[in-house]
Amino acid sequence: PLVLGIETSCDETGIGIVRGRTLLSNTIASSMDEHARYGGVVPEVAARAHLEALQPAIEAAVAEAGVRLGDVDAIAVTSGPGLAGALMVGVGAAKALSVSLAKPLYAVNHLVGHIAADILAADAEPLEYPTVALLVSGGHTSLLLVRDLTSDVELLGETVDDAAGEAFDKVARILGLPYPGGPEIDRAAVVGDPSAIRFPRGLSRASDRARHRWDFSFSGLKTAVARWIEQREAAGEDVPLADVAASFREAVVDVLVTKALDACAEHGVPRLLLGGGVIANRRLREVALARAEAAGVTVRIPPLSLCTDNGAMIAALASELIQSGREPSTLVFGADSTLPVTDIQVSRRA
Ligand code: ATP
Ligand code: MG
Ligand code: FE
Repeated sequence: PLVLGIETSCDETGIGIVRGRTLLSNTIASSMDEHARYGGVVPEVAARAHLEALQPAIEAAVAEAGVRLGDVDAIAVTSGPGLAGALMVGVGAAKALSVSLAKPLYAVNHLVGHIAADILAADAEPLEYPTVALLVSGGHTSLLLVRDLTSDVELLGETVDDAAGEAFDKVARILGLPYPGGPEIDRAAVVGDPSAIRFPRGLSRASDRARHRWDFSFSGLKTAVARWIEQREAAGEDVPLADVAASFREAVVDVLVTKALDACAEHGVPRLLLGGGVIANRRLREVALARAEAAGVTVRIPPLSLCTDNGAMIAALASELIQSGREPSTLVFGADSTLPVTDIQVSRRA
């Protein structure tokens, strides 16, 4: 099927068009620059930017795919999770398109969309099940057990406070680096010593095992970095930026990779899928690949343009749902900012 996907859960207005498992176009307009001076995504600013970016993005995606809007077989949209106001803009646009084109609508889960992105990678072998998936971005840090993309995704754990990308952004701010902080810290860390400072690995103690075996926590790490810097400054010493950046990055990467591979081992799953914008982190990819190889786990990482928020992954998920015979969604659904990952499709027709 030819599917047009709409993604507006955060600060990217993404319109993607796929035919089956083939990517035809993937247009992304980001309002990130507008959020930079606030040091993080401002929901109202994001929602208004989506409103302005949607129409041109749809036109660009259709033109690039070389199709006509009337040719699409279905519309797909992110229903949640994400920022309520931002989601609402995409949901409204999707309903309007569905009604005006008289095409079925598939309202889907953003996190499962991140997994579906893998299907579109040009050289991808079909996704094998089950697989563990680690999704790390500015808005989420989730560890999933995927038995079937269209019907069975289990949440193993997630962050109990800040998302990994958010931690990068907040620590960058503490270090006086601009937003978004991930790439800045990555760059500063290149010449730093990752073992210079031993920052805490959140929720990794034996006592955390019972309740938070697969959960993450990054706010304590952020506080530890802030306190470490304060103490240096109070002592009148220089703050070694590169070492702090490298040591902080190492703490994040270590806990992410350790938990993901432990989940693979405990569930007997020799496959790990990575997704989300933080996958851009060079050290994260490096450590994940090296430790996975040692553990006999195969790692899949979609191209970065498919790892960050985009419409093509939403279209890809709907395309899989259609191919597995799922009925479309009714128009009776809204934006659900806390949609659980187990709700792969919402408001499905009986
Ligand atoms: P969502 O959480 O809904 O997926 P988002 O816009 O918050 O949306 P992404 O666009 O996927 O998330 O990723 C942006 C985040 O990734 C930011 O927090 C940014 O700092 C982080 N990031 C980007 N590049 C790097 C990097 N090289 N290292 C670490 N973090 C990075
Ligand atoms: Mg983003
Ligand atoms: Fe996302």
